[in-house]
Amino acid sequence: MDNFNELVGCIHAHSIYSDGSGDYPKIIQSAIDAGLDYLLMSDHMTMKGRSEGYNGWYDDFFLGIGYEIQDPDDQHHYLAFGLDEVLDAKLTHKEYIKEVEDRGALGIAAHPFEERDPEKAPRGMPPINWTSLDYPEIKVIELWNMMSHWMEKTTLRNQFWNFLHPRSFSTHPKTKLLKWWDKANQDRKVTAIGAVDAHATKIKILGLFEKAVFDYKIMFKSIRTHLLLDEPFDHHIEEEDAEAIIYDNIRSGRNFISNYRRGDARGFRFWAQSGSQAIQMGESIQADEAKLKAQLPRKAHVKLIRNGDLYKKIYTNNLEIDVPAGIYRLEAEVKQRGWIYTNHIKIKGGHN
Ligand SMILES: [Zn+2]
Ligand SMILES: [Zn+2]
Repeated sequence: MDNFNELVGCIHAHSIYSDGSGDYPKIIQSAIDAGLDYLLMSDHMTMKGRSEGYNGWYDDFFLGIGYEIQDPDDQHHYLAFGLDEVLDAKLTHKEYIKEVEDRGALGIAAHPFEERDPEKAPRGMPPINWTSLDYPEIKVIELWNMMSHWMEKTTLRNQFWNFLHPRSFSTHPKTKLLKWWDKANQDRKVTAIGAVDAHATKIKILGLFEKAVFDYKIMFKSIRTHLLLDEPFDHHIEEEDAEAIIYDNIRSGRNFISNYRRGDARGFRFWAQSGSQAIQMGESIQADEAKLKAQLPRKAHVKLIRNGDLYKKIYTNNLEIDVPAGIYRLEAEVKQRGWIYTNHIKIKGGHN
């Protein structure tokens, strides 16, 4: 077994500094109560939480603060982490994805391919989309956004039920997005993370009582991103270095997404073995064949995806399989609902 230091956290949340209902102390406490090791905050168009000094360590829990960029039409939402200032609000999405890249910051395309029927959606909830993800600057995407799915499935008719059962809606990442992601990885490296997009929005239901939809702590017990680090990660590390460790890991793809609602995925591993070499998620190797291995904390329906197609489906907690060259990732389901989604491992043929 490897000696990775596994960090479990949530990405993408809003505070009162944009359209969330919680202040920073409340959100931080909710994250700690939910058992997170880290949280990445992303208010719309502001890093006020950062300038007020909330970025950093709380014992061994780490809070990183970036922000969510939008274009002048409120489309093409893009999370940016590692910038020292908010960019000019007039930039188009093509300009800001380039600017984030040029400044060496981490950019993540938020809720791609969001679809909502404007006729059926409750007022004030128009779809927010990316017209295309095919830009070389887009290197990381949100593969699974809890809030976005809920919004897609919420209509005037079912909103009462939906408000009371926020986590029951998002059962899987979007098929269309998974397909795009697998295809993109045939040509280049695009890694993925899971996003909660927590707002804890307070909504009056039928004019009767007010309820915070997606309370922070509930959301932090849904879509999580597990980072596998080589190094220890605790409050002895300088704040700036701690941020760099998280952002570098997200870029690298040595991480996986889980839905905590289906079970705690801590301890899950997926890697390839070629001779004496171990290849991790997000990595590639030149080889005609390799052995893929996975360990799960409990038995689940494991799907091995090769070049975008289902290659093998097996109910297990321990996978070991010899495979030809290809681009592989793994999904695990519990009761036909998505639990774990990994980044790709690339076995590129042509070894001599
Ligand atoms: Zn957004
Ligand atoms: Zn958001």
